[in-house]
Amino acid sequence: MSSKRTKYDYLIVGAGLFGSTFAYLASQAGKKCLVIDKRNHVGGCCYSRRSFGIDVHLYGPHIFHTSNKKTWEFVDSLSPMRPFYNQPLAFYRGEIFNLPFNMNTFRQIYGEYLPENIERLIKKDLILTDEPTNLEEYALATVGKTIYDKLIKGYTEKQWGKKCSDLPASLIKRLPLRMTYDNTYFSDQYQGVPKNGYDHLFNQLLKDCDVAVGYDYFGNPDLFSHIADRTLYTGRLDELFGEKTLEFRGLKFEHKILPVLNHQGCAVINYTDSCLPYTRITEHKHFNPVHDSKCCTIITYETPVSGSDTGAIECYPIPTERNLKLHEMYRGKVLNVIFGGRLADYRYYNMDATIEKAMQLWEREQMS
Ligand code: UDP
Repeated sequence: MSSKRTKYDYLIVGAGLFGSTFAYLASQAGKKCLVIDKRNHVGGCCYSRRSFGIDVHLYGPHIFHTSNKKTWEFVDSLSPMRPFYNQPLAFYRGEIFNLPFNMNTFRQIYGEYLPENIERLIKKDLILTDEPTNLEEYALATVGKTIYDKLIKGYTEKQWGKKCSDLPASLIKRLPLRMTYDNTYFSDQYQGVPKNGYDHLFNQLLKDCDVAVGYDYFGNPDLFSHIADRTLYTGRLDELFGEKTLEFRGLKFEHKILPVLNHQGCAVINYTDSCLPYTRITEHKHFNPVHDSKCCTIITYETPVSGSDTGAIECYPIPTERNLKLHEMYRGKVLNVIFGGRLADYRYYNMDATIEKAMQLWEREQMS
């Protein structure tokens, strides 16, 4: 093959949301892109695959939510979105509670139904610290000990594999706290899932690119270092230096087909007990009843594990001081590639932020 035919403007390492959005923008501007991924499919952790008429979110529930109209329209124009407002439940020692923390949750916990009474009861339960320095102190000072013990401590320590007192409060600030009877998990104006599944969305994003799945960037250094003018890398930065020192929290997923039509009555139940290993069970058909299967349902158990466990999917950067410093050090050392996305930036981005970051990178690229 002549070098001209194999030459790309961009090699994009990782076909997740960041890499695929960048690839889309670059290819629409006439750039020739090759997108590779070590998994055997595109879409990274956002990927869904239709089985028995159900879009199965293979890597846990992915609900797209944003308050940015432009970002919503970007996604919706590529793959039409179906409104979906997540209203997960929490299971703790045989009892069910509404999430996020709102008047329904408080009524279930305290038996009271008026906000002013609830506020009084929560206030009595607070454990105040001058300046909360970690997640535990922040939660105890904000929602009080009862809610912390039932709905936060077990779930968070399972999810992150660390004590709440060793985690930053920023992790839980993602969760709204409302004094209204509103069970909607996210507060964003636009919320939904792709009507035709995330696989359709990714096929649209990558429609004008060359895509090679099942290829590890580090497995073919001679080929990949010469194939394109520019490389966008979306993996973990320490791996660029042959190291694995940054900590990631991993997840394992176990999918089950059940011969019933409705297993749990909602898309997501969180298991906040510390004695159960899994944090969530997702029943996928509830995301998109339009494609409801008439013969069965599919559920997924989600169990947090160390990112270095065999078979673990590295999902969450763990933003401790040590890890953030290490990441800063790697950032400073990177040469010759541009990078971004949840793994490379070591940031807990939501999907909308991931898309917006990729858009910003593409804008900077055009100016460089
Ligand atoms: N969280 C919790 N109990 C729950 C759900 C969430 O304590 O039932 C806390 C936990 O610390 C978690 C954070 O809220 O890390 C953010 O949760 P979210 O559900 O947003 O995590 P994601 O869906 O992004 O994995």
